[in-house]
Amino acid sequence: TNNVAVSRNPANGELIATYAYQTPSEVERLLDANSAAFRLWRATPMRERVAAYRRLSATLRDRSDTLAALITAEMGKTIKAARAEVEKCAATIDWIADNGPAILADEPVSVDGDDQVHVSYLPIGTVLAVMPWNFPLWQVVRASGPIMLSGNGFLLKHAPNVMGSAYALQEAYEAAGFPKGLFANLIADNDTVARTIEDPRVAAVTLTGSMRAGSAVAATAGKALKKSLLELGGADAFIVLADANIDLAVKAGVEARFQNAGQVCLAAKRFILEQPIAEEFTRKFVAAVQQMTAGDPLDPASTIGPMARGDLRDELHQQVERTIAAGATLVVGGRKLDGPGNYYAPTVLTNVQPGMAAFDEETFGPVAAITVADNAEHAILLANTSDYGLGGSLWTSDIARAQRIARRLETGGVFINGYPASNARIPVGGVKKSGYGRELSHFGLREFTNAQAVWAK
Ligand code: NDP
Repeated sequence: TNNVAVSRNPANGELIATYAYQTPSEVERLLDANSAAFRLWRATPMRERVAAYRRLSATLRDRSDTLAALITAEMGKTIKAARAEVEKCAATIDWIADNGPAILADEPVSVDGDDQVHVSYLPIGTVLAVMPWNFPLWQVVRASGPIMLSGNGFLLKHAPNVMGSAYALQEAYEAAGFPKGLFANLIADNDTVARTIEDPRVAAVTLTGSMRAGSAVAATAGKALKKSLLELGGADAFIVLADANIDLAVKAGVEARFQNAGQVCLAAKRFILEQPIAEEFTRKFVAAVQQMTAGDPLDPASTIGPMARGDLRDELHQQVERTIAAGATLVVGGRKLDGPGNYYAPTVLTNVQPGMAAFDEETFGPVAAITVADNAEHAILLANTSDYGLGGSLWTSDIARAQRIARRLETGGVFINGYPASNARIPVGGVKKSGYGRELSHFGLREFTNAQAVWAK
């Protein structure tokens, strides 16, 4: 319905909880409390902020079992992957506590003469984060970790199907001793989100999600003259050149595509294979996909869980059908699995070409699209034939050549003989319609700060 957020277990369809949307006066109180907490936090010395970060990582680790069970119940990833997600959040908060203060310290600038010049990285206010359900904790921490260390406030507009995770994270921040209300959940429809972006108590907005959501939120922010950061997913290429180690590439390719039931912005989506190895790679890849076990994400024997929502599975299935209708070959999968739960059979399509849905669009589920390239140049051309530009993989035994090719790939990241994964040390973000701005690393820590130049004569 329109005024409650519904959390439903995608493995069996059972209702977990509903959360009423906040009323206008509740939103008003939330924004007031958040502003007050921001003023307190901004004035809190860096070493105390760091101490809160350390308590937060400890809290997340202490609560790992509960948090992981909640993630799995709300969006269906395997329990092992959910535990890894919690640990990744804790490790990232630790990395920020260890490295953030130096990154945000005043930066001296040498100028001629005796003038003293430096750049300070000051907070700008509260950042509203509109977040998706695919990594209910990690997507949020990837935003909030860097954003809050400089002294900013944080408002979370999470996806309606993972509100339990949103509250668990808010509780973890509170338990770690962050000022109450500094990290706060907004449960709201899109119109309320738009009004909140316009509100003077909100300084900027960050969004991870679809192009449609990003475009709408950025338009509102632009009209209000507020900064936005967009992380809009991708159609990452997984390029395998003729001199690659095929067995390693196959193993990585299966993980890169099917992790999280394929619901990853940085997942390998378009497999672009150089002609001489295309047959061998495809044969081994399909064999590995046939070994996967779709089933209850709480069962350690399952290697892939359900998709997060039924409508998303329907959409994926339509993409597969449109791709087949346009001339691609279905090798394995291509169907919804029977029974309760939003399971989709791990799927491989071959003969996929530009102009087909599985090549042009983001496939946010367990579907691999294979395209054969005549040679390396053709592979580069195909990889760049995309509206998206998030990440990509390149497999070859010639690293120097791969590094040269990387410069020609229109993406925010290139992983040579590996596959994309966000890591606190490196920036994550895209070009083209994958969005703009960078999260994590020093880029993320400074993204929502006022780089203030101070020049003393
Ligand atoms: P959405 O982009 O619609 O949802 C992501 C977040 O954006 C949710 O919190 C959603 O809230 C919010 N949102 C959507 N529209 C607006 C708006 N106009 N104003 C404010 N907030 C908005 O993704 P879906 O869950 O519908 O998934 C659709 C597709 O998006 C996927 O199939 C996939 O291709 C892509 N996607 C990419 C992700 C990534 O990691 N890059 C993550 C999730 C999805 P609400 O639901 O309340 O509208």
